Amino acid sequence: MIALSLAEIAEVVGGQTHDIPDPSVQVTGPVVRDSREAGPGSLFVAFVGERVDGHDFAARVVGAGAVAVLASRPVGVPAIVVEDVQAALGALARYVVGRLGTTLVALTGSAGKTSTKDLIAQVLQRAAPTVFTPGSLNNEIGLPLTALTATEETKFLVLEMGARGIGHIRYLTGLTPPKVGLVLNVGSAHIGEFGGREQIAQAKGELVESLPPAEEGGAAVLNADDPLVRAMASRTKAKVILFGESGEADVRAENVRLTDSGQPSFRLHTPSGASDVTMRLYGEHHVSNALAAAAVAHELGMSADEIARALSEAGSLSRWRMEVTERPDGVTVVNDAYNANPESMKAALRALVAMGKGRRTWAVLGKMAELGDEALAEHDAVGRLAVRLNVSKLVAVGGREAAWLQLGAYNEGSWGEESVHVSDAQAAVDLLRSELRPGDVVLVKASRSVGLESVAQALLETG
Ligand code: ATP
Ligand code: MG
Repeated sequence: MIALSLAEIAEVVGGQTHDIPDPSVQVTGPVVRDSREAGPGSLFVAFVGERVDGHDFAARVVGAGAVAVLASRPVGVPAIVVEDVQAALGALARYVVGRLGTTLVALTGSAGKTSTKDLIAQVLQRAAPTVFTPGSLNNEIGLPLTALTATEETKFLVLEMGARGIGHIRYLTGLTPPKVGLVLNVGSAHIGEFGGREQIAQAKGELVESLPPAEEGGAAVLNADDPLVRAMASRTKAKVILFGESGEADVRAENVRLTDSGQPSFRLHTPSGASDVTMRLYGEHHVSNALAAAAVAHELGMSADEIARALSEAGSLSRWRMEVTERPDGVTVVNDAYNANPESMKAALRALVAMGKGRRTWAVLGKMAELGDEALAEHDAVGRLAVRLNVSKLVAVGGREAAWLQLGAYNEGSWGEESVHVSDAQAAVDLLRSELRPGDVVLVKASRSVGLESVAQALLETG
């Protein structure tokens, strides 16, 4: 972060200084909420959590070299005391990004935010120093903490924005106002909480509403293939750039195919030229993510060749997303257990089949959470797709959603032996350990709450 004195920070956040002998002392960063990350020059932000109260660590972090604590009460060590720590943190982030000449890129969507954010970062990094959200730190605390890691050298700041309701994105764009705003898709993630796709679109579209007008460089990057995203063009004054397979897209892919190893390959078209891409990531859903990243990079001045090269070399920066590991005995384990939704389940199954040509393929699947009324139909559809794609074996793990998966397979193809329903991850591991043969390919995927990565990990441990 840029160096700021405690006096300046107190003024920016509207706080009172307590136990600070010299307010001209500077915070040089980082700003942290985890006491273990506090060190010389840092500012520790004390949140009151359900189990732990950050204020209890105040003495310890100052002992470790932190300059001060941003707190909601005096703590006996140097502190800037405010009424609302979260609001203060946001105000500080807003101030810092306002002082920097950094171009902010924000993205949201139902699925693929982190994957796409990682792609954008890896592409933009080739053009200029780029700071981006680590992992999925995309909420009202993680986002300002990320923004505060930017420095004078940072040319691009790429921020993932998550929305769990109306007004969330508006709040986040208020803290870190983007110049380029990208909306990936409006799927079914969190549909239960929102009440419907229209509401999700309403919430996500707040991103493009926040953008500056085209004359001031504002750019809305929208998915032409998703009608609810496409329609957001009418909610922004920014220039609209469309990406997707649709013919009207400014940035699009032609000749999309999966290589024998399941990696997407396509010809990238941008308004400034075309170039070939073969990705290192697995699954055709990454084509859409790559086009989104390409559209952002094009808008920020990169050539099609530069973008294509970067996309072809980009790896996954976040774990448990189509993580492919080969065991010594030739069994391939595809760990995509980070999360699941209907779109990504289908994409992962297709990648499994492409990767497993001529080999036995196993789809070890668990529930897709938060689908509300659509849960039964969506699980049924995934079970049916496994049959249509000719997956060799379906192992459905868990409760009634797993039963729906299996039933879908049964109804589509009279699958009996080919599909198994087991109650939990351990049962799946036991089954696979006894059944797997050299050369088999195993996909493991479910919503985060299922924790199916334990299956992938167990399979890799035993070798
Ligand atoms: P979260 O809301 O948990 O932060 P996210 O939007 O950041 O999720 P990712 O972490 O990138 O999304 O991916 C989550 C899951 O969605 C992964 O399992 C991945 O396979 C899948 N996925 C990635 N991109 C897409 C896409 N464009 N369409 C559908 N599914 C996708
Ligand atoms: Mg994420």
